[in-house]
Amino acid sequence: MFKILYVEDNPQNMRLVRKILMAAGYEVIEATNGLSGIATAEREKPDLILMDVNLPDINGLEATTRLKASELPIASIPVIALTANAMHGDRENCMAAGCDGYLAKPVMKNELLNTVALFLKHPPASTSAAAPTPTSNSSSSTPTTTTTSS
Ligand code: MN
Repeated sequence: MFKILYVEDNPQNMRLVRKILMAAGYEVIEATNGLSGIATAEREKPDLILMDVNLPDINGLEATTRLKASELPIASIPVIALTANAMHGDRENCMAAGCDGYLAKPVMKNELLNTVALFLKHPPASTSAAAPTPTSNSSSSTPTTTTTSS
């Protein structure tokens, strides 16, 4: 059984996501702030981490950066950031912090399960180049008019 750590300070979100994940057969462990999230990851060695961005102590991005900077094997655990502020640049901030994936709240059941399954099947350490990007591929900007000839 895959073990998923969910770092979340909001009890309602915690309850909802835990219910969805447990119904799908995952084991869910919990932490309610960034520092305890890191400590729990070190202790429990989950297969995947869902990381709320807005946390009461250090935010989820800082916690992710610290996890990814670790010399322990926890650095290779995929981290999916969950943020309520689906603002422009949010995704970039998450990726810059070292997150492997990104989900905007409110979390939709199917999107959550698909993303979790994707990262559990394709851990970053085992693949070489193509990092899985669940919600990308919005092919919008193709430079057609401005072609700078060199
Ligand atoms: Mn929060």
